[in-house]
Amino acid sequence: MADRRIQKLEASVVNRIAAGEIIVGPSNALKELFENSVDAGSTSIDIAVKDGGLKLLQITDDGCGIVKDDLPILCERFTTSKIKTFDDLTSIESYGFRGEALASISHIAHVTVTTRTKDEQVAWKAQYLDGAIVPRGSKPKPQAGKVGTQITVEDLFFNVPSRKRAFRSPSEEYTKILDVVGRYIVHCQGVGISCKRQGDPHPTYTVRKEATHIDRIRTVFGPNVANELLEIKFNAKDRDNGVSSESVEEGKKIGLRKISGFITNANYSSKKSISPVVFVNNRLVTFDALRRALSQLYSGFLPRGGHYFSYLSLKIDPQNVDVNVHPTKREVHFLFEEEIIDFVCSQVQKALADVDVSRSFETQT
Ligand code: ADP
Ligand code: MG
Repeated sequence: MADRRIQKLEASVVNRIAAGEIIVGPSNALKELFENSVDAGSTSIDIAVKDGGLKLLQITDDGCGIVKDDLPILCERFTTSKIKTFDDLTSIESYGFRGEALASISHIAHVTVTTRTKDEQVAWKAQYLDGAIVPRGSKPKPQAGKVGTQITVEDLFFNVPSRKRAFRSPSEEYTKILDVVGRYIVHCQGVGISCKRQGDPHPTYTVRKEATHIDRIRTVFGPNVANELLEIKFNAKDRDNGVSSESVEEGKKIGLRKISGFITNANYSSKKSISPVVFVNNRLVTFDALRRALSQLYSGFLPRGGHYFSYLSLKIDPQNVDVNVHPTKREVHFLFEEEIIDFVCSQVQKALADVDVSRSFETQT
């Protein structure tokens, strides 16, 4: 039974398998690249996409750039500038932390990086495959270019034919990319963002860095949503601002430091459901338990089958949050999850009910 013997897989096979877990599709790659640009302190991020990201994903930022001497190890696994020790994970502020994204992408696509820091007179360009610069042994080349980084990902999954075949519709993939980009547009105040399908005359989305959250919601989700928004605001440091001292104490007990965001009022009701735009400590997450609780709450305010919009940014004590539970980092776990959901819902309920009351007063007079 020679074929039953255990053998060590070749590194290239291991890396390609691992990459497929993190980069499930083009939108995961885009999310990783986008988060890197935000981590780099960018105020402008431009995205270009071809064939739903399978042919080309390009992201250009004006962030801090990458030091030229770091380029040779940029796409190696577990190389990062963001944490040094495991304990650093308990206070993590950045999106990235594992140093796996670029490495993963380089195992399943052709990656080109052009980058310049403020200390350089020129930009440096390098191409990568399987974690290293190609052609093997070559060095980054000087180029004209602005401070910041441009990363180009071409032919995603070119060496994973089964995965590639699974993406039958480029427009479906582009929709997923727009979903991710749209959510970041809403959240990332202070960052100008555009997203364009290559060849289209105009970008699908574009926001200036000065745009407010409401402007951003209008750009992505339309005026009908943007015209019917209520602000949600809670800060465990704030004793005034309409927040009762009991809520402040309660918030502190469950490690909830801050809630900010916007929700639609009871005048707005959509046939289409939009899953809540939720960020936990600046991380875009899917939070199904919160989605269910909000739907339940809104069903008391909206006509049957009506849907709401919500954007909520939660700040939770970082030591209560485990960010390292999901390969795509789309899920986080934290303590007091149920209590936090209840607390958020009580704030939403209050905002919705306040408007209801003032409206019934208006009709009385
Ligand atoms: P992580 O984000 O987990 O650190 P990545 O593989 O996504 O891992 O990136 C590796 C490193 O490359 C980052 O830690 C950062 O130093 C650098 N980097 C990647 N993208 C950019 C960018 N757009 N601007 C500046 N530095 C970047
Ligand atoms: Mg990263």
